[in-house]
Amino acid sequence: MGAKAVIYLDNFRSNMEIVRGRIGAERKICVCVKANAYGHGAIPISRFALDIGAEYLAVATVSEGVELREGGINVPILVLSQPLPNELDTIVSHNLIPLVSDCEFIALSANAAERRGKRLCLHLKIDTGMRRLGCLPDEAADLASKIVSYRSLTLGGIATHLSVAESLDNEEAAFTNNQLRLFNEAVASVKQAGIDPGIVHAANSGAIVFHENSFFDMVRPGIFLYGYSASQDFPAKPVMELRSAVTHLEIIKKGEAFFGSKNISYTDDTIIGTVSAGYADGIPFGLSGRYSVFIRGKPYPIVGSINPDSFFVNLGKDSGVEISDDVIIFGPGFSTAEDLGQKVKTIPDEIICGIKNIPREYIG
Ligand SMILES: *Cc1c(COP(=O)(O)O)cnc(C)c1O
Repeated sequence: MGAKAVIYLDNFRSNMEIVRGRIGAERKICVCVKANAYGHGAIPISRFALDIGAEYLAVATVSEGVELREGGINVPILVLSQPLPNELDTIVSHNLIPLVSDCEFIALSANAAERRGKRLCLHLKIDTGMRRLGCLPDEAADLASKIVSYRSLTLGGIATHLSVAESLDNEEAAFTNNQLRLFNEAVASVKQAGIDPGIVHAANSGAIVFHENSFFDMVRPGIFLYGYSASQDFPAKPVMELRSAVTHLEIIKKGEAFFGSKNISYTDDTIIGTVSAGYADGIPFGLSGRYSVFIRGKPYPIVGSINPDSFFVNLGKDSGVEISDDVIIFGPGFSTAEDLGQKVKTIPDEIICGIKNIPREYIG
């Protein structure tokens, strides 16, 4: 028996309801399911999100989009990164929506769609300051008219990405507002050119909680839906619990060393429990000695080195813990991926995205 992720769908639903409450009934929600839905399982999360009101999905790569289509999902899927030209055939055949930002890629997209006798929907990506992907705001109208000049293409939307929206720090809030101003101008220039911009979208999780002026026609939440909010005013409920079990109990006598280490010997008899989960499952190596897991509702510190598939906890002399007892590494009601991440100086996003290759159980 190894590690398992338990996914509490009711918490995901309640996070969706908070987003819905923020944006109102009319706007669309595009759920970010990149990185295997931040470690929660792309297909089950996509299906659930669509059941409870999402209308679009977003992935980072073409292969993630293909996986969703092969899983039978047929709503619009945005591919958030710029694909390579040699991925265009797959994009067309799987009806994915790339974000585009240059003339050459638009022309290649038109050819790919035409070759298959299909129409491809594109969203135009504007760079308003992140400097990652996108055209300049004053190129937007030209690129939009280029897109609509091809019979095999449609302009489905216009997007930008806000790079520091999860902060209300003065300087960063001003940066975000400037990004939004540039974006508004770009969208206006497209409309002025007589082109329908389609669905206008900008907001990630941070913008949804902090920047009401970023909602436009659709929002693109990721991390908030999985339970991590940048705002105390809009707390989200963590969705994932990482759990395993005690597989062995070792009695260490007073004065004996544990793990062959001079550094770990105990001043009283103690029991060390082995837990079958490790860094191959996404538990950071650096947690040893810094973090406690929960067994029968009580915290026990991790000791010794974390192995690929196991780690150890000091249970003390008479915890009553038995083999097969559940071990909660993090989860709602106990501790969060944020608490765990802080011990190794990382964000909860990295922790939950790192939970891979283990079975998932969906509750609710
Ligand atoms: C990842 C991503 C999002 C979602 O971001 P969160 O901070 O997780 O809400 C939205 N838009 C784009 C372009 C992204 O890459």
